[in-house]
Amino acid sequence: MSEGINLQLSEREQEFKEMAHEFAAEVIRPAAPHHDSTGEYAWDVLTQAWETGLMNVHIPEKFGGLEASHVEGILIAEELAWGCSGIGTAMEANGLAQAPVLVSGDEFLIGKYLAPQVAELKNGRPIMAAYAVTEPGAGSDVSSLQTIAVRDGDNWILNGNKMWITNAGVADWYFVVAYTDKAAGYKGMTAFIVERDWAGVSVGGKEHNMGQRASDTRSVTFENVVVPHENVVGEVGMGWMLAMNAFDHTRPAVSSAAVGVARAAFEYAKEYSTQRRTFGVPIAKHQAIQFKLAEMAMNIEAGRLLCWQAAAKKDAGLQNTMYASMAKAFCADMAMQITTDAVQIYGGYGYSQEYPVEKLMRDAKIFQIYEGTSQIQRMIIARELFKQR
Ligand SMILES: Cc1cc2nc3c(=O)[nH]c(=O)nc-3n(C[C@H](O)[C@H](O)[C@H](O)COP(=O)(O)OP(=O)(O)OC[C@H]3O[C@@H](n4cnc5c(N)ncnc54)[C@H](O)[C@@H]3O)c2cc1C
Repeated sequence: MSEGINLQLSEREQEFKEMAHEFAAEVIRPAAPHHDSTGEYAWDVLTQAWETGLMNVHIPEKFGGLEASHVEGILIAEELAWGCSGIGTAMEANGLAQAPVLVSGDEFLIGKYLAPQVAELKNGRPIMAAYAVTEPGAGSDVSSLQTIAVRDGDNWILNGNKMWITNAGVADWYFVVAYTDKAAGYKGMTAFIVERDWAGVSVGGKEHNMGQRASDTRSVTFENVVVPHENVVGEVGMGWMLAMNAFDHTRPAVSSAAVGVARAAFEYAKEYSTQRRTFGVPIAKHQAIQFKLAEMAMNIEAGRLLCWQAAAKKDAGLQNTMYASMAKAFCADMAMQITTDAVQIYGGYGYSQEYPVEKLMRDAKIFQIYEGTSQIQRMIIARELFKQR
């Protein structure tokens, strides 16, 4: 007989959630407007997050980490993004760079690059990393990558350009995918860890993005960079598989961050609807506004459940690719809709930077683009549906 579905959080899950919420309310939210308007990297916030234990949470205990489960990870992600998804993305991008390395199980590289990220600060700041796969001519279509690595004795010589890389300007190392055998297609791609300080690595200027402006997005160029063979992640030819499988780990958290943004917008809009009066009553008394708020609340709950399902399946060792894409597509689109509706509920005030919802609307848009666009998620869902026949 089924034991039923238990949606009660464990004590540890509840602790993570509360710790992240407190941090978001007390540290992230007060700092967010400054970093949104200046684009300045939120080093102070990240350092405090590191000290609180809210960064790099998935690193295994064996390597000094907390070994947080996927469910624990998404609970944290929702709260951080509720505080500010730009700062949340800056913090969580480390997890995206680490995920393929953890998937590879390459203990040498986990020990060399991931373990120090939980062990120590460097110059008083967290050690950062970036996932560098996208290129100027290859985003959704990863097979169009132009970056190549050629074997040279015990080394590889890496050449190419990466674009739209979160944390590129602050990262100490990059997870990079390059072709090592173009004729072999996907199986001809190999992943490397490349250090920022190596000769031939250069980083472009900060992109002036629409939203999540506290996050750092830049291009990275590799020009005859000598990469030791020991920095191949997993094995030669595993690059595409590692880069894609990492998303099964990270998409539930990104989706959960979209829920956090939507929840923040909903809370502001609900509160505002009780304050703003038109035609002699608070606008919350108008059924059109009530229905908008009801719709928001309903979709936030639905989105959160999709995130929980995608994460719980991964924790249970089950294939979660389709569920992760469902969560990603649903929550990204839902966050865009809800933040737009929140601006609508605020009326003209919603359009002003004096009020919080215009930032949330700008921040929400990227969820439909990064870690695979909403269209790509639907392609993955359809592919998985037909696989299951
Ligand atoms: C702020 C930001 C941060 C990012 N961070 C990172 C990062 O850290 N690391 C990294 O590697 N990348 C990162 N990216 C890149 C991001 O993942 C890509 O932008 C995204 O995958 C889309 O690729 P593209 O921009 O080349 O768009 P394209 O692939 O050119 O797509 C353009 C449009 O066409 C649609 N489309 C494409 N193919 C199809 C199809 N077959 N069917 C239907 N529609 C299709 C897309 O959905 C999209 O709407 C980031 C991007 C941004 C903007």
